[in-house]
Amino acid sequence: MKTTLLTPETDENAVKTAAELIRAGEVVGMPTETVYGLAANALNGEAVKKIFLAKGRPQDNPLIVHIADFDQIYDLCPAVPSQAKLLADAFWPGPLTMIVPKGECIPDEVSCGLDTVGIRLMARALIRESGVPLAAPSANTSGRPSTTTAAHVMHDMDGKIAAVLDGGACGVGVESTVITLALERPRLLRPGGITLEQLRSVLGEVDVDRALY
Ligand code: AMP
Ligand code: MG
Repeated sequence: MKTTLLTPETDENAVKTAAELIRAGEVVGMPTETVYGLAANALNGEAVKKIFLAKGRPQDNPLIVHIADFDQIYDLCPAVPSQAKLLADAFWPGPLTMIVPKGECIPDEVSCGLDTVGIRLMARALIRESGVPLAAPSANTSGRPSTTTAAHVMHDMDGKIAAVLDGGACGVGVESTVITLALERPRLLRPGGITLEQLRSVLGEVDVDRALY
């Protein structure tokens, strides 16, 4: 497969082309607020499988779903807890992933068979233009460092994905904080761009997963 580098500065249709590829079930590298991501239509299990293949990602490591508007979360996850809105108002768009009970429309390829799914909101033209939620882990071969430029993504993914959308260097080379809202009390699963103190300032008590002790 030839990997196309799509550059908005020189190609006014770059985002549109990337969105068409996503809707056609292909994988596209895209800039996020943290690192580059590998995006596919989160509602299309076959498209999502291609992300795992390109990254060499273990089949038991679930993907995060990226949305452009908060209300999309209610379509994807009807049983979303009320804390999600509080966190969204405080930190979205931003480096925070919330784990919530998953709706029926999310294929098992995304959640790796779990009954929960990670959701993150980002202000990104490609998510909006695609019109679908995007499953998107970091755009690097599993076990390699995350990528923060389109050139890094091309180096790692050339020949494995349909295209890379060049959005320049990503702002923060850190990953999103992961918090689960699917347990009795909110629990921090992975530290990242939003601190535990920030989470506690909104939710009150937040547990810390034993794996982080
Ligand atoms: P990344 O590979 O950088 O996109 O990171 C995604 C992180 O979110 C990984 O640490 C996953 O294990 C975690 N994650 C995604 N979905 C879930 C879920 N349903 N439950 C718990 N952790 C999750
Ligand atoms: Mg990663």
